Amino acid sequence: NAATSMLLLAGIFAIYRIDSGKRLRMERELGRAVRNGEIEVHYQPQVRYSGIVSGAEALIRWRRPSGELLTPDAFIDLAEESTLISEIGLEVLRQACQTLKHWSSDPRTQALRLAVNISPVQLLDDSLVSSVSSIIREAGIDPTLLEFELTESALAAGTAMVIERMEALESTGVSWALDDFGTGYSSLATLRTLPVRKLKIDRHFLIEATRQESAQRLLGKIIEISQVMGLSALAEGVETPDQRELLIGLGCDHFQGYLFAQPMPRRELHAWLDMQPLP
Ligand code: C2E
Ligand code: CA
Ligand code: CA
Ligand code: CA
Repeated sequence: NAATSMLLLAGIFAIYRIDSGKRLRMERELGRAVRNGEIEVHYQPQVRYSGIVSGAEALIRWRRPSGELLTPDAFIDLAEESTLISEIGLEVLRQACQTLKHWSSDPRTQALRLAVNISPVQLLDDSLVSSVSSIIREAGIDPTLLEFELTESALAAGTAMVIERMEALESTGVSWALDDFGTGYSSLATLRTLPVRKLKIDRHFLIEATRQESAQRLLGKIIEISQVMGLSALAEGVETPDQRELLIGLGCDHFQGYLFAQPMPRRELHAWLDMQPLP
C-alpha cells in the first residue's frame, strides 16, 4: 500500500544520504592524505622466466589515521572523479623515485626497474609532463629504469592527445607498458603507433587458459603478437607453478603474481630481494 511505499522510499533516501555523506567525507580526507603522509607505496616483484627478478610494480595504499590500510579499489575511482588523482599519482611517483634512488646506491639492486601506474585522468593534466620531469630531476635517478603503466582502456577516447603525452613523457627517458592488455579493445593498428615497449596481459586470460584449451591458444597468440611487434610480454596474476610452466611454454618471459610475491612495503621487499637472484 501507499504507506509502505512511502516508508520504502524514505528508507532508500536515507541510505543514499548516508552514502553521499560518507563519500564527501572520504573525498575530504583523501584530499588531506598526501599532506598527512598517509599515502604508502607497496611493491610487487616482477620475475623473468630464468627466476631472475627484473624489478617491481609500485601499488598505492592509503593508511588511514585509524591504522586501517586501504587498497586502491576503495578509493581510486573517487580520486579520479575528483581529480585528486593528479596529486596522489605524483606522490606515488615521488616515493617510487626515492626507492630507485636507494636501489642505485647498491650494486646488487642498481639494475632493478620500477613500474608506476599512470591514471588516464593524469594524462589530461597539462602540467603532468613538467611535474614528472622535475620529480625525476630532483630525485636524481636514471629515468630509463622507470616504466609507466597505462591501462589499455585509456586509449578508447582522445587517442591523439594521449599518444602525444605518452611521447612527451617517453622523451624524458621513461618507457611505457600497456596495462590490462586484451581488455580495452584497442586495435592492432593503434598499438603499432603507440610508444609502448611492453604488454601486461590481463590475468583473466591466464585464468581462462588454465580451464580451456581454446583460451590457451588465444593466450599463445597474444604472446606471439607481442613478439612480432618487438614488445615484451608480462603475464599478470601468476598464482601457480602450472601457470608459470604454461606461460614459459607459450614463450612468455616476464611474470608477476602471488606465486612469486604479494605486494609488500619497501622494507619487506628488501628482505625478500636479499634471497633472490638479481640481474
Ligand atoms: P593493476 O595495475 O592491474 O595491478 C595489479 C593488481 O593485481 C594489484 O592489485 C595486485 O595486488 C593484484 N595482483 C597481483 N598479483 C596477483 C595474483 O596473483 N592474483 C590476484 N588475484 N591478484 C594479483 P591492487 O594493488 O589492489 O591494485 C588494483 C589496481 O589499482 C591496479 O591494478 C591499478 O589499476 C590501480 N592502482 C594501483 N596503484 C595505483 C597508482 O599508484 N595509481 C593509479 N592510477 N592506479 C593504481
Ligand atoms: Ca598496473
Ligand atoms: Ca594490470
Ligand atoms: Ca587491473
